[in-house]
Amino acid sequence: MALKIRFWGVRGSIACPSPDHMKYGGNTSCIEVQAGDHCFVMDAGTGIRNFGNIILEKDIRNTHLLLTHTHWDHINGFPFFTPAYDPKRSVIIHAGHLKHQGGVKNILSTQMQNPTFPVPLEAMRAELKFIDFQAGEAFRIFDDVNIRTAPLNHPNGATGYRVEYSGKSVVYVTDTEHVPGQLDQNILGLIEGADVLIYDSTYTEEEFPEKIGWGHSTWNEGMRLCQAGSVKKLAIFHHEPDHTDDVMDKIEIEAKAAWDGAFVTREGMELVLD
Ligand SMILES: [Zn+2]
Ligand SMILES: [Zn+2]
Repeated sequence: MALKIRFWGVRGSIACPSPDHMKYGGNTSCIEVQAGDHCFVMDAGTGIRNFGNIILEKDIRNTHLLLTHTHWDHINGFPFFTPAYDPKRSVIIHAGHLKHQGGVKNILSTQMQNPTFPVPLEAMRAELKFIDFQAGEAFRIFDDVNIRTAPLNHPNGATGYRVEYSGKSVVYVTDTEHVPGQLDQNILGLIEGADVLIYDSTYTEEEFPEKIGWGHSTWNEGMRLCQAGSVKKLAIFHHEPDHTDDVMDKIEIEAKAAWDGAFVTREGMELVLD
């Protein structure tokens, strides 16, 4: 039974549809995971709108949504997630660091309040369940899908996820800032021996010194983490909107030259681990 990952949005900060962003895509963070017959999603950036159409097409009744955090680029697609308006369905939303900030329900509801959005959370007629846990906890979302989590270094906090199914594992670590020369022990503990690390690679090493405190990292740090944690592949993710297709092509060439386990994620890309 395979673990499959499909990228519905790979961009950070803000959606950036343009002729210069056709190859890698302009939608913000959203990743579908298929674990055997189960299907769930991580983050609700603008990419989740298209994922929602798949849920309707396949008539999947229950969807788990794991949120890394609630910055706009990770929740802006939520009001456009059509299955959440259908009373025949249920959506279970998990978040790891918001208990003391009013809880995830409160924050998603605030996003949908007048006068910034005309349709309130209450208009979502699916059965919605909100689960606030503490980053660092482990839980199961299906009998055979283990989730482990860790806190990340990001303004207002963020949660990293490790998904384990049938002997395979994928780790999703965005948004996080590294301290140069010091591998993040929380992340190392989460990624050990994983098949793939999807990692916040917003900046190049040249850009990073100007962006200290902004809460993001580089593919080079992702590679160092993978090598220290015996992770097989690095998925370069959360692309800076100003990084056009040409820039991303160059990043892919540089990253592959540094380590052949690295690759750049694109919208629509599918990974199959079996
Ligand atoms: Zn982000
Ligand atoms: Zn963020």
